[in-house]
Amino acid sequence: MANLRFGAVEEAFKKRPLEVAAPTERPGEFYGKYVFNRTKMYKYLPVDIYNKLVDVMDNGIRLDRSIADAVAEGMKRWAEEHGATHYTHWFQPLTEGTAEKHDAFIEHDGKGGMLEEFSGKLLVQQEPDASSFPNGGIRNTFEARGYSAWDPTSPVFIIDDTLCIPTIFISYTGEALDYKAPLLKSLRAVNTAATRVCHYFNPEVKQVHTNLGWEQEYFLVDEDLYFARPDLMLTGRTLMGHDSAKNQQMDDHYFGTIPERVQAFMKDLEIQALELGIPCKTRHNEVAPGQFELAPIFEECNLAVDHNMLLMSLMKKVAHKHSFRVLLHEKPFGGINGSGKHNNWSLSTDNGILLHKSGKTPEDNLRFVVFIVETLMAVYKHNGLLKASVMSATNDHRLGANEAPPAIISSFLGKQLTDLINHIEKADKDDLFTFSGKKGMRLDIPEIPELLIDNTDRNRTSPFAFTGNRFEFRAVGSEANCASAMIVLNTAVAEALTNFAARVDALVAKGEEQTSAIIDIIREDIKTCKPIRFDGNGYSDAWKEEAAKRGLDCESSCPVCFDRYLDKDSITMFEDMNVMKRNELEARNEVKWETYTKKIQIEARVMGDLAMNHIIPVATHYQSQLAKNVQNMVNIFGDVEGKQLSERNIKIIREIAERTNIIETGVEELINARKVANKIEDQRERAITYHDTIAPKMEKIRYQIDKLELIVSDELWTLPKYRELLFIR
Ligand code: ADP
Ligand code: MG
Repeated sequence: MANLRFGAVEEAFKKRPLEVAAPTERPGEFYGKYVFNRTKMYKYLPVDIYNKLVDVMDNGIRLDRSIADAVAEGMKRWAEEHGATHYTHWFQPLTEGTAEKHDAFIEHDGKGGMLEEFSGKLLVQQEPDASSFPNGGIRNTFEARGYSAWDPTSPVFIIDDTLCIPTIFISYTGEALDYKAPLLKSLRAVNTAATRVCHYFNPEVKQVHTNLGWEQEYFLVDEDLYFARPDLMLTGRTLMGHDSAKNQQMDDHYFGTIPERVQAFMKDLEIQALELGIPCKTRHNEVAPGQFELAPIFEECNLAVDHNMLLMSLMKKVAHKHSFRVLLHEKPFGGINGSGKHNNWSLSTDNGILLHKSGKTPEDNLRFVVFIVETLMAVYKHNGLLKASVMSATNDHRLGANEAPPAIISSFLGKQLTDLINHIEKADKDDLFTFSGKKGMRLDIPEIPELLIDNTDRNRTSPFAFTGNRFEFRAVGSEANCASAMIVLNTAVAEALTNFAARVDALVAKGEEQTSAIIDIIREDIKTCKPIRFDGNGYSDAWKEEAAKRGLDCESSCPVCFDRYLDKDSITMFEDMNVMKRNELEARNEVKWETYTKKIQIEARVMGDLAMNHIIPVATHYQSQLAKNVQNMVNIFGDVEGKQLSERNIKIIREIAERTNIIETGVEELINARKVANKIEDQRERAITYHDTIAPKMEKIRYQIDKLELIVSDELWTLPKYRELLFIR
């Protein structure tokens, strides 16, 4: 039997690291080479146009259509100098990836020839066919048009020969069909609410920006081995495979020496990412063999999201060049760690105050406490929704699987901050003030030593941990668009800050002194959101019980978690903060449920095919070899002694028969269960049925296959094994 696996292993072993030429320039010089950033805008645009555009970018002023032509002209000139011949609107539909449709810069000149043109109209708006993208039924059948509209706050960039223009994507009737449109609205909401709260402390603040620093985890697998695994190719994860005898138990991969081929890949990736303006900073091995991480310096949230989307597609391209495949799936291999995307999130002002960082004066510290506590209020009130925002068919394998954050959202603050918050809650109100002579009443809030807060012992089991000057949302999946989580977090924080300000203002209107009012409200909120604070071990069963008692959302079924988007509190929040309307939320949920079903459906099909076409034939082939051997032994030694001597083989023959039987019945049941589920019209119900009846059946089949892998001759096994996938690179 020709064995694809051995051919692949042989090819994989032969590979050597690619030479990656070191750039002749310093990173500072080639950083942003292919980005139309401010320096280039200044160079390529008339000065009045430049000023107007900067105003749009910095102050959210509406784009004046009259400047669009001049901007487009400058962009085109710059792009052509870098070899671009095409342009595309680059957007983020609800499919998790990005979408683009390239058009050449050419138009008829009316005289039978062509001229190169790029008008403001084409820059600002296009009409891709919305029917080809998930829309959850928002699009009427007779109105297929969707609009993509330029987002001037994220700079255009060049990939190969194409000028890419970041855009939002909305339906003809104005509903968001993407991640960027609601993200921008959520950023506006936090800006408004946080600026208002800042004014209690710093009246000069004009704007509050949201920062996002993501850390991207991923696996690399040799391309030849990848091609020999249909499950990896079609579903992004291994649907079967016995643990490698050695995997991560020695803890020898994390921060270890980066393998040479991988190092070459990383170097190449970083150069290209820097050229695209992605500020890559950190790279290292991760916990599992074959797993790595890349993290840039944090940026404004919208830009950071675009950069993450761009990086994920760049990774795929560069990996291919190095004969690797990058696996962004949250759980490509059973039994070892999966991949996440930590979202480091914080707020800062236009004049450089980091609002999630403690300050030097008691007033600064009160402001700090307000932003911490109101973030906790948001996370507490919408903990189920936050979980829903990171849930997916793929991340489902990781959340709650005793490695990454559990499927319960809680927040770890560390000792320093906990002590401070407890002090503010419990202290006698007079203790929070000192009376100092002429100045009258002064705030007395102890300072947090900066060094200590930076060294906050990190609780790795916490899904939403405070890490010194930011919160780190660790439940986000490696494959996800960060925007999904950021939309919910930003909107929830905007709502909490708005409520906070309204209550403070009400007290002030009644005659209470402002600082005293702030302290009253913050003390009330510290008490309210206490259930979300948890510093213990998030993996323990005791926590699950405790969390349920505290009323935190403990739902673990992915399709049911999506229900949180349609809770009354969620709809009110999204509508009040002007981020999304009920019909948009409903449509998006339809998409989520449908996507969930499709992913499990594809996995179930691949599982069935592999079981019937790879596993059972190989196992029975081996079984007949053994049977022939037993027969030979009987021929030589006679029935009794022959069988006695063949005891082990007979045992394996039996085991193979039993296990293949279970697999075959399992596959049949899987097919029948799918038939039943597919008849269900309602998307939600169908997704729940896939979750409850189909996913568990796949696990049972996998169990049997993994057992067979251990007894069937290695020589015959056709699918690359875990040790090969994880250790050959
Ligand atoms: P870890 O110790 O969690 O691995 P890293 O240093 O690798 O942390 O990555 C932390 C990420 O958080 C980086 O992207 C970094 O730029 C970002 N970050 C640092 N400070 C802030 C902040 N105040 N707000 C948002 N992101 C931040
Ligand atoms: Mg981290």
